[in-house]
Amino acid sequence: MAVLGDRGVASLLSALAEAPDLPAAASFLLAQLVDITGTPRALMLRLDPAYEALGYIASAGFDPEPTRLSIPLVDLSNPLVISTLALVPVRGSKSLGFRALAGIDEWLLLPMSQPRQRGAPERMAPQRASELIASPSITVLEPAPRRLGVAPAGIVLFEGPVDGDAVAEAAEVMALADPIVSRIATLDLAQELADQLAQRRDRLTLMVDSLPDPVVITNAANDIIAQNQRAERLLHVRDDDSPGRRRAIELNNLLFTSFLSKAAMAGVQQSGARELNLVDPDEGNDLLFEVLAHPLGERVGPEDAVLSVLRDVTDLRRAANELERQVQRVRQAEISVRGERDRLNLVLKNVADPILVTDERSNIILMNDQAEQLFQMTEAEARTRRELTAVRGNDTKFTSFISEFALLDDDSRRERMTLVYPRTGMELPVEVVSGKVRNQRGEPIAIVSVLHDLTKQVENERLYEALKRLNSELENRIKEATADLAEQNARLQWQSQEVERANKLKSEFLASMSHELRTPINALIGYSSLLLDGVLGDVNPKQRDALARGRAAAEHLLALINDILDLAKIEAGKMPLRLEDVSLRDVTLEVTQQIEPMVRKKQLEFEIDVDPDCPAIYSDRTKIKQVLLNLLSNAVKFTTKGRVSVETRCAADGVRIDVVDTGIGIRPSDLEAIWEDFRQVDQSRTREFGGTGLGLSITRKLLERLGGKVIVKSTYGEGSTFSVYLPLRVAPGIGAEYTAENVTTVGD
Ligand code: ADP
Repeated sequence: MAVLGDRGVASLLSALAEAPDLPAAASFLLAQLVDITGTPRALMLRLDPAYEALGYIASAGFDPEPTRLSIPLVDLSNPLVISTLALVPVRGSKSLGFRALAGIDEWLLLPMSQPRQRGAPERMAPQRASELIASPSITVLEPAPRRLGVAPAGIVLFEGPVDGDAVAEAAEVMALADPIVSRIATLDLAQELADQLAQRRDRLTLMVDSLPDPVVITNAANDIIAQNQRAERLLHVRDDDSPGRRRAIELNNLLFTSFLSKAAMAGVQQSGARELNLVDPDEGNDLLFEVLAHPLGERVGPEDAVLSVLRDVTDLRRAANELERQVQRVRQAEISVRGERDRLNLVLKNVADPILVTDERSNIILMNDQAEQLFQMTEAEARTRRELTAVRGNDTKFTSFISEFALLDDDSRRERMTLVYPRTGMELPVEVVSGKVRNQRGEPIAIVSVLHDLTKQVENERLYEALKRLNSELENRIKEATADLAEQNARLQWQSQEVERANKLKSEFLASMSHELRTPINALIGYSSLLLDGVLGDVNPKQRDALARGRAAAEHLLALINDILDLAKIEAGKMPLRLEDVSLRDVTLEVTQQIEPMVRKKQLEFEIDVDPDCPAIYSDRTKIKQVLLNLLSNAVKFTTKGRVSVETRCAADGVRIDVVDTGIGIRPSDLEAIWEDFRQVDQSRTREFGGTGLGLSITRKLLERLGGKVIVKSTYGEGSTFSVYLPLRVAPGIGAEYTAENVTTVGD
């Protein structure tokens, strides 16, 4: 060691080892080598990490420093490359061809080595180096003793002639320094890589943390081994967390762990998203996540690690639900609209009146069958010109009405018009009733028109007019007639007053004549009886017969007079009531006693059946007796064989007395006439049966006075039943026209 000596080398190496980085180490070493070689300029190049080129590391004496110098390794004609790869020193006196190295015409190259590493270029055989050089001005020097396990690392260029000792010393120093420089280079590289990795990791962390979705890596025990910030917020308890937040996070961990266990059991880790409910520890509301779990496998971490990405789908789901609800609503609306439309169509189809819908430009957009008959016909469909004209006429009338209406502000309008049935040519008077359909902004969008058939109404109006005319004619005629009638009426009124007066006079006359008429007849009857009884001496049979006939005629006359007088009294209103409690049983018995001789004479069966429960009725005893006597004497009179009976039945509202016979009966045609005054059905039989024809008339009138009535049922040739109905009490109104005095007076 000429320049440095062993100690110098040792201190150089230890100083080199202290170098903080490769450039410092390289500069230091190069400075030492410059010292050793006494060269004016020196340059150190090293293989780049990719082993593709020789690049600048350090220089001495260069101005400017050739920092940008780079020599590709593939250039095997370059002595620097050959020297580097073959690890042989090379000397030359020839320009190296680089502008940065201009002026260096004589030079020495000493290679640098490094421990062999994966990927590093193989050392080139020295033999091949000599072959490649093949230039008389460049010499391959004897290489340093060969060391095993070394690979090319770089090269040092020295300018100018360097003597043999200096070369050897420099080579030796380099051989010793190379491993240290390599190690520093490796460390530099490692540091650089570490820096890069750190940078990359920071970027990745930033990236993962800035993800809005929680990302978690879990191990086989479902423990979280890595997570991003968002996941931490949900799943990681911090020391300063409130108890509420802590509980929420614990719950989240529980939910998440159980989710992972379930997923692992179901083996669905690979098969995509599953849903997970968590709680927002800050807000407390529910969050819904879609978990995408990826087993990481051995590529990245432990084999059983699982990366879970939790996609927050709370809003998405809410939106989806809302969307679904909207869709449902729309669908529902569609269904109801469809139903509505079907119903409308049904209505349109079934309504007997024509219906049309027009748009805002008065075009018909919808009509039912009835309307089509009036407004729709193509030239092809029309059978005659007339039909087409009718349709067009209808359309013109309708459209002009609608256009006018469309311009108005009104919501509805009605108008009469006369259309024509195209098929028949018949006129159709209609009333068009139109209404506007408005949208939400109140703008009219359509007009619906219904055409009411007025045919009937028009006909009715015509008839009404005719009727009115007739009516007024009739009125005039009636007026004329009424004038006549009034006159006649006046006359009639006068006549009726006259008649009434006469009738009253007659009745009064008869009533007052009662005594005058009956006294002489009674005298006749009395004296005839005296003669017949022989009180005035004997009479021979002939005289007796004449006397008997005379007495019978007088008795008949008396009966007639009595009846006529009764009737007259009733009609004159002079038949006052004498009201008292009347036992029907007693009355019936008294009357039957009177009738009995007749019954016996005619050998008839006779029966009385009076309901023993019948109460006494409050009525006029004499009049009831007269009624019963009339009916019973008729029954006996018109019965030649068989029986006559009297049945009395009582009810809550009155009594009924039936007088039943098995006599000659009455023809249905005579059933009305028997009640008339002086009416006898068979005049020819009067002689046989006797009678005045007043009995039933009086009976009916008496019963009317007593508030009762009499009806007859009869079968001609078989017999008759006369039924008398009497109230239990004569109603107060009856007889009220009489004073108390009058009531007790029995007219006779
Ligand atoms: P007369 O005094 O003739 O009986 P009435 O007024 O009592 O008058 O009767 C009128 C007529 O009604 C009688 O002439 C008789 O033709 C008919 N008549 C009344 N009662 C009976 C009866 N029970 N059976 C058949 N005919 C009767």
